[in-house]
Amino acid sequence: MRTLNIAMLLDMAVAGDPDRVAMGSRGPGTGTTCTQLRRTAAGVATVVHRTGARELVFAGVNGPAFPVLLFAAALAGVPLVPVNYRLSTQALTNLLVHTERPLVVADEAFAAGFEGVRVRTPEALLVEGRAADPAEGLEGSPDDPAVLLFTSGTTAAPKAAVLRHRHLSSYILQTVEFGSAAPDDAVLTSVPPYHVAGVGSVLSNLYAGRRIVHLGAFEPAAWLALVRAEGVTSAMVVPTMLARVVEHLGGGPADVPTLRSLAYGGARMPHTVLEAALRAFPDAGFTNAYGLTETSSTIALLGPDDHRAALGSDDPAVRARLRSAGRMVPGVEARIRDETGAVLLPGAVGQLWVRGPQVSGEYKGSGEHKGPATTLDGDGWFHTRDLAHFDDEGYLFIEGRADDTIIRGGENIAPAEVEDVLLRHDTVREAAVVGVPDEEWGERIAAFVVVHEGAATDAEALRAWVRGRLRGSKTPDVIVFRAELPYTPTGKLLRRELLTTMQGG
Ligand code: AMP
Repeated sequence: MRTLNIAMLLDMAVAGDPDRVAMGSRGPGTGTTCTQLRRTAAGVATVVHRTGARELVFAGVNGPAFPVLLFAAALAGVPLVPVNYRLSTQALTNLLVHTERPLVVADEAFAAGFEGVRVRTPEALLVEGRAADPAEGLEGSPDDPAVLLFTSGTTAAPKAAVLRHRHLSSYILQTVEFGSAAPDDAVLTSVPPYHVAGVGSVLSNLYAGRRIVHLGAFEPAAWLALVRAEGVTSAMVVPTMLARVVEHLGGGPADVPTLRSLAYGGARMPHTVLEAALRAFPDAGFTNAYGLTETSSTIALLGPDDHRAALGSDDPAVRARLRSAGRMVPGVEARIRDETGAVLLPGAVGQLWVRGPQVSGEYKGSGEHKGPATTLDGDGWFHTRDLAHFDDEGYLFIEGRADDTIIRGGENIAPAEVEDVLLRHDTVREAAVVGVPDEEWGERIAAFVVVHEGAATDAEALRAWVRGRLRGSKTPDVIVFRAELPYTPTGKLLRRELLTTMQGG
């Protein structure tokens, strides 16, 4: 058996239960078994190898082709490069410059985004793969790249995080128990393939023995309908998705009796959304998963028991954990450091550094440097650039990106703190707080606010609300009302875009 290659995880799934439905519908004869997944992936690997490609680029929604391509790339010994299919032709062309001899596979709807490149559809490639002999012995070593994930790169030059087989395999082996899922378990995944959680979801659920159900384009009603139709027992969502689900439910119960586990992560979860979700899904166990692309996904978890304990506690310190990202997963060490590198004690806010076998911290094609560049320090520590602190029992609290900190008149202000207070106002649905350059103060605080439909408030009322709850210096200098805020499809607030619109007028 292979060692520390993600294809090993597929081999184990096949060995464990060859006829288990690995993905697709529970309807008789409609899903794909572990054996079929392995066979198709091995055939596609042969096709990929024949083309001489060095990288397999995939621009497609989360669907049954994605796991096939992930393992086909592994079996062919090339990395899979899932790209954001919503990017412009120009942006996709820029990304391709950073790839090596790519074989481009794109859903028909996105093929036009690639100019002057031969593009195959996943369907055609899978048909070819099923007819081809299965690839043997092409997979590389644990040290070979398994997946390259481009960071959003809206302003900077695109660069890809390099996740090697050993990183992804370590993550799965450390955090998932093989075959631990019950026979009727099914997971609904709606995170796109180009996000690390999309990759992690395929690997962890296959390894646990959980049937994977895909939702290509997220929409709350479709998500709920699929949970009901497929008897889905667990799901992973980014905060913007959960916000849309609870809004869709309008305060009513979700009525999804099979759903036992609901995981969220990828960005900070607004507390108001979490509270509404806990009410709407009273029978589900909630998990907050915190991680970065560079750390092969999850490095800290707040599990269902922690959620329950926090909800049921009168102790403010325990109750506060509902806002935490939980504790570090096995194998990952963490330190909070100040700017000088000194390690801080529990309670003190600083920058989070992490170390462990799943932590890559390596990029390809950054700036002028085409070769791999590691950002780990000499002792293997990776700087997450997240501001954070631990409590006395090792619960991790993420306060936001260090780069987003507003420095107003010499005082450091975390946008999240002000956003949380704004979100507690009855009329506020979404809030984003950014620093705007200012001659007098260095930066002024601007709050962008979306109000609930039909709700009426004004800037003065919201400023007074914040002033009544936080120090005066944290009161937004200006409040801008918007119909919506800009997010990435994976739920990240595009603060820089807000700043541009502000400066532009
Ligand atoms: P990315 O690598 O694009 O997935 O972004 C990783 C960043 O997302 C982290 O550094 C955090 O700032 C944020 N993030 C991810 N998961 C969480 C979470 N559960 N809670 C708070 N922030 C998160």
